[in-house]
Amino acid sequence: MNSGEKLIAKKCKKCGFIQHKDHIRCLKCKNDTFDMIEAQGGCKLITYTILNVPPLEFRDKPSYALGVVQFENGIKALGQIESQKNLKVGMKLAPVYKKICNNLDGKEINDFVFKSIE
Ligand SMILES: [Zn+2]
Repeated sequence: MNSGEKLIAKKCKKCGFIQHKDHIRCLKCKNDTFDMIEAQGGCKLITYTILNVPPLEFRDKPSYALGVVQFENGIKALGQIESQKNLKVGMKLAPVYKKICNNLDGKEINDFVFKSIE
């Protein structure tokens, strides 16, 4: 199963900036060598929004919450938040790797979802 999935980010070897693993060059200094680092510790909610008109992939949901979280070692991640109720900036969340939707071809899409642990 997917329980062993890790949330990975790139840390610039030159300036230490942490960014999403899909970026090829450092967003700050344009360097292209990185250390891969793993999210560690708990995470907290930095910002969020409620999408009332979700993308087509999420057609089975009337709305959902999308947030940015930050882990104790600095990694930030964007993802769905499991609940839309009682969300507040600074609350503690935990990542769960699970199916988030079926894409438009009917394929199952898995990603990290964040759930409240408070
Ligand atoms: Zn850099």
